[in-house]
Amino acid sequence: MAEHESLEFGKADFVLLDNVSLEEFMANLKLRFEKGRIYTYIGEVVVSVNPYRAMNIYGRDTIEQYKGRELYERPPHLFAIADAAYKAMKRRNKDTCIVISGESGAGKTEASKYIMQYIAAITNPSQRAEVERVKNMLLKSNCVLEAFGNAKTNRNDNSSRFGKYMDINFDFKGDPIGGHINNYLLEKSRVIFQQEGELQRCFKCIFQLMKGAPDAQLRSLHIQRDPTAYTYIKVGGQIKSSINDSADFKAVTDAMKVIGFTTEEIQTVYKILATILHLGNLKFGSDGDVTLIENSKLVSILGDLLSTKDENVEKALLYRTVATGRDVIDKQHTHQEASYGRDALAKAIYERLFCWIVGRINDIIEVKNYDVRVHGKNTVIGVLDIYGFEIFQNNSFEQFCINYCNEKLQQLFIQLVLKQEQEEYQREGIPWKHIDYFNNQIIVDLVEQQHKGIFAVLDEACMNVGKVTDEMFLQALNGKLVKHAHYTSRKLSPTDKNLEFDRDFLHSAVFYSVVGFIDKNKDTLFQDFKRLLYNSSNPVLKAMWPEGKLRITEVTKRPLTAATLFKNSMISLVENLASKEPYYVRCIKPNEVKSPLLFEHERCKHQVEYLGLLENVRVRRAGFANRQIYPRFLQRYKMISEFTWPNHDLPSDKEAVKRLLQSCGFEHDVAYGKTKVFIRTPRTIFSLEEQRAEM
Ligand code: ATP
Ligand code: MG
Repeated sequence: MAEHESLEFGKADFVLLDNVSLEEFMANLKLRFEKGRIYTYIGEVVVSVNPYRAMNIYGRDTIEQYKGRELYERPPHLFAIADAAYKAMKRRNKDTCIVISGESGAGKTEASKYIMQYIAAITNPSQRAEVERVKNMLLKSNCVLEAFGNAKTNRNDNSSRFGKYMDINFDFKGDPIGGHINNYLLEKSRVIFQQEGELQRCFKCIFQLMKGAPDAQLRSLHIQRDPTAYTYIKVGGQIKSSINDSADFKAVTDAMKVIGFTTEEIQTVYKILATILHLGNLKFGSDGDVTLIENSKLVSILGDLLSTKDENVEKALLYRTVATGRDVIDKQHTHQEASYGRDALAKAIYERLFCWIVGRINDIIEVKNYDVRVHGKNTVIGVLDIYGFEIFQNNSFEQFCINYCNEKLQQLFIQLVLKQEQEEYQREGIPWKHIDYFNNQIIVDLVEQQHKGIFAVLDEACMNVGKVTDEMFLQALNGKLVKHAHYTSRKLSPTDKNLEFDRDFLHSAVFYSVVGFIDKNKDTLFQDFKRLLYNSSNPVLKAMWPEGKLRITEVTKRPLTAATLFKNSMISLVENLASKEPYYVRCIKPNEVKSPLLFEHERCKHQVEYLGLLENVRVRRAGFANRQIYPRFLQRYKMISEFTWPNHDLPSDKEAVKRLLQSCGFEHDVAYGKTKVFIRTPRTIFSLEEQRAEM
């Protein structure tokens, strides 16, 4: 346990609770929050409660206190976890990852930034220029990604609307030499629509541009400073810029320059944002059967921004090319199709822009000139900051994907922390009291299983030719899943289209409305738009749309659906995490009103439940804090005992370890497995380390 903390602040590790009950857990969490102790351990897991106020615990002096220390030597802190991950990487050559989870506004992104800052601060003592450059790039990339991927929502003023996994690569000295970012499911619908509510906004970069760009730049983009002039961004109601927008514009543009974006690239980025704003103002009308663009002046602005002829823009907005047998014809859009196409284009170019930015950052930060044969193994620390469970009044495809992602991560957590732990004790022949926990594999399967899962049924519905409705998808689901214990569907009224997706682990069901599932899953962008962008004379834009190269007769393959792409990315994310040594930060949001004082009991309890924290404590308590195979243990501690130093003459390493621990008086705190020694309390390890250091 953390020796330095007095009980006045509650238990620093939930494992030390007198009784493991939800009541005691909550009481401890609340007490610590109220005393300004926002971090608490469950073994090596950090539970964090958002303080909603500036805390004086992240400065240089605090960093020094955690540097190179063992987890239990200091009060619980993110820095201790970051240090543990770093030590495992450096000492044991292990790839590690830090998984940060929790709901929107719980403090994940802040935590990930503190972790990165810590790692940046403790590395590169010799101030190598190349390493400093890499560190600077990694920190700057955050600033750019936040501008393009974050938005103000009703729940969080700086909400990440994408999932992010960042690898930091280290050389044999333990210094950062590069990195790689993976991004997941950007909430692109926000480009054209924000939920009603006074705090909702579009992505931050749009407002930064409007408020911060010099007059000349705005003129060249044909943009006014007044956000109310733009349909897409006034939907949410709140169109006031935030005070920082102007300064942020400069910071983000500078960050892009430092990272290495060329002037042409940066200009193109802003042209794309302007294109989106103008697209939103495009109005379609009709003259008899003919669909028209009412404000045709915008067409020439778009032509200018996209570096293409006006007539190409107009044609792509009003027609689509279809192949009928051997013939290729231009089919005019209806009014409705044209509006649909316009919105799809706005969303698609934003999403593509975002992915392109991530790709450019990756080009620049990826490890170069590192020869494993010369320099030794290159190890990795990954940091995952991904959206937590979302349960709204009205849940749609996006929430379905996000919640599926959380089920998968929960599954991984169960697998790694709970299941693996139990299985290891069994394998090693250590007496073990079985602990019940809900294995949510069944929920994960319900979503992702081939042929039978909800995603598979959705894809099948989308494959059908002819008009497929959301209602038909719901019927197909009902047909396939009616007997599934965790699936039910309900109709609130005859016109209502809801499917209920029941989830035991959460102790409550989540309802999703199927409205929009088909559309969002198909995620259609007419090929004509892709060709339009590919044929731009702006090389940056052209490079973003390589698939526009294909002629209509060459487009045969259906693009993968949004659900399949997301599922595949989640499966590979989980595989990647599973291959690393994981560290967990579980973030809790104490209240809905961003108050530093309020601990809303029910809200917090709910989070503790669905994060499975109590199960985590039980397993941890029943278990052992530390385990090592006998030869490794001996190698590290043999100097402590005369029986083992410099070599032992006992029949096996196991016997030698037994003798060593007996001679130190730790016999009561350990168990001997087939291949490993298990140590119950961290204190014992701590003490062994001290004795070792004294030798
Ligand atoms: P989302 O899923 O919406 O992206 P999140 O979990 O990433 O949410 P953050 O953006 O990290 O949430 O935190 C929300 C806000 O809470 C921050 O902008 C900040 O005001 C406050 N906050 C979070 N963590 C801390 C902290 N450690 N110290 C002070 N304030 C914090
Ligand atoms: Mg965030």
